[in-house]
Amino acid sequence: MDIARRDLMISAAALTLTSRAFGAGAGDRPLGYAIVGLGSYGLDVIIPQFANCAHSRLAAVVSGDPAKAKRVAADHGLPARSIYSYETFDTIRNNPDVDIVYVCLPNSMHAEYTIRAAKAGKHVMCEKPMAISVAECEAMIAACKTANRKLMIGYRCHFEPTNLEAMRLARAGAAGKIRYVRSEHGFVQRDPSKWRLKRALSGGGSLMDMGIYSLQAARYMTGEEPIAVTARESTDRRDPRFTEVEDIIDWTLEFPSGAMAGCQSMYSANQNHILLMGDAGRIELEPATRYEGNHMWRGKDGREREVTPPPGPGKTQFAGQLDHLVQSIRTGREPIVSGEEGLRDMRIVEAIYRSAREGRTIRLDGARKGRA
Ligand code: NAD
Repeated sequence: MDIARRDLMISAAALTLTSRAFGAGAGDRPLGYAIVGLGSYGLDVIIPQFANCAHSRLAAVVSGDPAKAKRVAADHGLPARSIYSYETFDTIRNNPDVDIVYVCLPNSMHAEYTIRAAKAGKHVMCEKPMAISVAECEAMIAACKTANRKLMIGYRCHFEPTNLEAMRLARAGAAGKIRYVRSEHGFVQRDPSKWRLKRALSGGGSLMDMGIYSLQAARYMTGEEPIAVTARESTDRRDPRFTEVEDIIDWTLEFPSGAMAGCQSMYSANQNHILLMGDAGRIELEPATRYEGNHMWRGKDGREREVTPPPGPGKTQFAGQLDHLVQSIRTGREPIVSGEEGLRDMRIVEAIYRSAREGRTIRLDGARKGRA
């Protein structure tokens, strides 16, 4: 069994074991999260999820908009001392209610706020993509290590029942020997003024945003680390949305077993799909990685029967994710989607961009490290 596959199996077992062990000490007080960035994900998606958590609670908000921060704090019964601006953020070190900082900011701000949070003595949950370069990811890991704090990436699909069941089935050989994974993710990005289309804030286009899901799927469905990548990009640079970042990017990954993955992301069409093909059948998810309503099928060469997955580790994937970091802090184990996991993706992301730019295959030296 190769090392990456073994690690994934150990991770899955650790998720189950820590959930059980954690349940035994459930009398502990829930740990407090400070949400940094009250945008659509932090405010509309994550904050309401604390109601579904067993071990996590909202403890503070950090925002550049004082009126919004005050309103959100009032809505959730937070005291005035638990409202921070970006300027006062570092004083969060003095707030014992806050155990974890959750970074929900534009991508180029992830590294700065993760490092500042670690220096303030807080554990960190950081949204995907982990940052906008390998160098930033390494600095974030080093800062959390120095401060002896946990770092987890917001890879919610590792807590989502359909994706978890697909991983389990793939590992159990339900499709036979894995030969090919396809994954495409995209949505129509309509507004040219959005930060996602500004390179300085996003670090890149659809790959940095939706492409991370396709890349993650290729890795967690095969359980392998790629050894080579070949990419192509297609962007209409006359389109005012795409003067700075890519629209469509398409890449092929080669794995040590001989399996391949064909992945894609785009900002000009909606897609949300994972398909694993093995020599004994296939596992297909569509939509695959949405917040809710994902579906999975198995079959010989099509969607022959729909699979209903067993419940995941949390009431929702978000609650499972939030509580998992608390479990990791309490048990001392690394989160199953640690900073190292985000770094592995970022190494491949850099290789994908390089391959598209240089028009050649990039070898990734070492299946284990994914180093470009
Ligand atoms: P958003 O634009 O809705 O919110 C961004 C927040 O950052 C806003 O509160 C904004 O005020 C603040 N901000 C601070 N400085 C800013 C600046 N210079 N420019 C723009 N905004 C600034 O974005 P979002 O959709 O909430 O995304 C935030 C992060 O969450 C991104 O990294 C994104 O990839 C991630 N995300 C993850 C998921 C997921 O399913 N895991 C889903 C959506 C977004």
